[in-house]
Amino acid sequence: MVILVCNDDGIYSEGLHALEAALAKVGEIFTVAPDREQSAVSHSLTLHRPLRIDEIAPRRFAVNGTPTDCVNLAVKGFLPVRPQLVVSGINKGANLGDDVTYSGTVSAAMEGSLLGIPSIAVSLVIKGAPHHFAPAADFAAVLAKEVIAQGMPPDTLLNVNVPNLPREELKGFRLTRQGKRRYAETMEVRVDPRGRKYYWIGGDDLGFDPGEGTDCVAVHDGFISVTPLHVDLTNYRALQELGGLQLPWQ
Ligand code: MN
Repeated sequence: MVILVCNDDGIYSEGLHALEAALAKVGEIFTVAPDREQSAVSHSLTLHRPLRIDEIAPRRFAVNGTPTDCVNLAVKGFLPVRPQLVVSGINKGANLGDDVTYSGTVSAAMEGSLLGIPSIAVSLVIKGAPHHFAPAADFAAVLAKEVIAQGMPPDTLLNVNVPNLPREELKGFRLTRQGKRRYAETMEVRVDPRGRKYYWIGGDDLGFDPGEGTDCVAVHDGFISVTPLHVDLTNYRALQELGGLQLPWQ
């Protein structure tokens, strides 16, 4: 059983090491991860410069590219065998609600799923130290075993978010739907030492919509959230509502 491990925090991140240690008990691990932090790069591919791969330890490879590049290279021929599972993480920070569209962690799993491989993204919902990576890694291993044994519906990836709590304080897990986070619509404008303006985006966290059954609510209530995602972004409700669309266009 070969498992491909990737992340977006980079090959030296603590969360990646915790995940590798836990998954080593489930199968043979190959890690192909960015050589530096690539958080919030989303599903981007590097198409306009060469990609290099460095073997930094046996079966551990650092790539000068994005999480999606890593999974793409690994599955399309860099690894000696095709992995049966892709696991991305453990991200240092939540990937809840609409944040999944920015996430490099989720996108690595998305790429695995697009390539036809069952895939899981794992994130730790961190609001401050200490970081409880171990329970999140243990849960990832249990889930990985289950996915290997039972398979997964086609075109699906599992987005897992684990509250940053010691094992005994986690309440269990919930299957959830994607919620909605709220951020302040602000940006910072400052002036650099040479007198030029610069800008800093990323608004303050204003919480989340209290929708029932969502990932945000589950994590807030102390549960591990497991959301099945797919890449089809079609709004089927709108497709029906727009069914009678008439335009003056011949
Ligand atoms: Mn990250």
